[in-house]
Amino acid sequence: LPKDLFSPRKNSAGVESGDRKALASLISERGRAAVTGLAARCEAEAAKKGAEPVEIVSPVDGTVLGTSHHLSAEAATALVGEAARHVTAAEAVPAARRAEMLRKAAGLFESHEAELLAILAAEGGKTLDDAIAEVREAVDFLRFYADEAMRLFGEPVNLPGPTGEENRLTYRSRGVAVAISPWNFPLAIFTGQVAAALAAGNVVIGKPAEQTPLIAARAVELLHRAGFAKEHLYLAPGDGETGAALTSHDLTALVAFTGSTETAFAINRALAARNAPIAPLIAETGGINALIADATALPEQVADDVVMSAFRSAGQRCSALRLLFLQEDVGDRILEMIVGAAKELTVGDPRELATDIGPVIDGEQLAMLQEHVRRMEAEQTIRYRGKVPEGLSGKGHYFAPHVVELDRPEALDREVFGPILHVVRWKTKDFGKILDAIEATGYGLTLGVHSRINETANKVIARLTVGNLYVNRNIIGAIVGSQPFGGSGLSGTGPKAGGPNYLARFAREQVISVNT
Ligand code: GLU
Repeated sequence: LPKDLFSPRKNSAGVESGDRKALASLISERGRAAVTGLAARCEAEAAKKGAEPVEIVSPVDGTVLGTSHHLSAEAATALVGEAARHVTAAEAVPAARRAEMLRKAAGLFESHEAELLAILAAEGGKTLDDAIAEVREAVDFLRFYADEAMRLFGEPVNLPGPTGEENRLTYRSRGVAVAISPWNFPLAIFTGQVAAALAAGNVVIGKPAEQTPLIAARAVELLHRAGFAKEHLYLAPGDGETGAALTSHDLTALVAFTGSTETAFAINRALAARNAPIAPLIAETGGINALIADATALPEQVADDVVMSAFRSAGQRCSALRLLFLQEDVGDRILEMIVGAAKELTVGDPRELATDIGPVIDGEQLAMLQEHVRRMEAEQTIRYRGKVPEGLSGKGHYFAPHVVELDRPEALDREVFGPILHVVRWKTKDFGKILDAIEATGYGLTLGVHSRINETANKVIARLTVGNLYVNRNIIGAIVGSQPFGGSGLSGTGPKAGGPNYLARFAREQVISVNT
């Protein structure tokens, strides 16, 4: 691990990053100005391009934060062509210099923490705790991939060979890398993908989610300030059409994508349909993530970990818990504790320190969650229906936690991205069946087991193909370098972000054999 991962750091205002109170006042002091200034720069950029302005609406209270633009399909196509002209020069930047710039960017992210937190709250609806963790994760990615760049690209690997022959394995850049990131981690995932692609010496085009272009624009400004040339890192704000143009271009050499499984399929098809070299797709998508608790588990701990995994970040994490399996004998007791804890959660403005659950990202997501509850009401049993406080409704997009009891696991047949927990009870004789049901979803992202019997956890580990399996703890918040993150099956391709195999996928291997 990089030495300085996880260490507390002071930002430019001298505030410790863990000091929530001081940070909150710093954000309200500087946040507005930071967001307004950034929005004005994005607007100027749109005007320069002659593009149609697109409003950025805050999920917190519906205010218009500013405008961005969507790169048209033609402009996106031209951008890949332009980027491709700089591939040789980008690769010529030594790995040590790339690592140095990534580390410098990490320092800049830290010294601009208050501003980044303010943008994450206003544009992404992030609570202070979530935003702090997100800036931390972005910084960790920058330092982790800087170290990885030195490990992979620093010195060639000498391989064995007969006397009189030298064999050297080296890693080279691939060319133009397109990174398409989601709105739920608009800084951490955007930065992680872009940093890995830059670390490997590629020319990078970062396309943020259309809901969150501001924070991505700020990340790119800071990366440029850290030394990355404008010709080696481009921002491509846009929608699905922009993404489709970027991924179907013949000169796109690699796509890193985090988002829905459906879009990953579309990108895979677009890449395959090109009359061009086969380009790899690194996809990290969704999941119907489960947690299994047996009768030996500690009820208080199960309840705590379930509430955190299902409701933190308003359930808007691809790692979040969707389906809880409670063993019959302890079901009532644990369910009661979960509902009790859910009632205590404060839904509200994410900039308030007391808020546990901020808004969902937009009206479309809100409508999807409301529709899902209507369907569950008709078909299953609602055990807890959280209420959005009066003053909030009508302003932003708020949705309070819900707990739904299902009569069978298959009743949840898709990923529902929000704070809705589904619970299924199981009998001892059906243990194998629930593992089959989880496997049958086709997803394989995160999974939790709560049990004091080692054999139970071992059976689950042996049977299930999930990417991140957590025993006796919550199932969210994977840490860079400690818990490399990503799944398999419908949940993604791997390699795992923040892990030892990620960077290699952004590079191509070359072996040089010399007859000495
Ligand atoms: N890495 C995050 C976690 O472990 C989830 C990332 C995502 O939602 O895309 O909670």
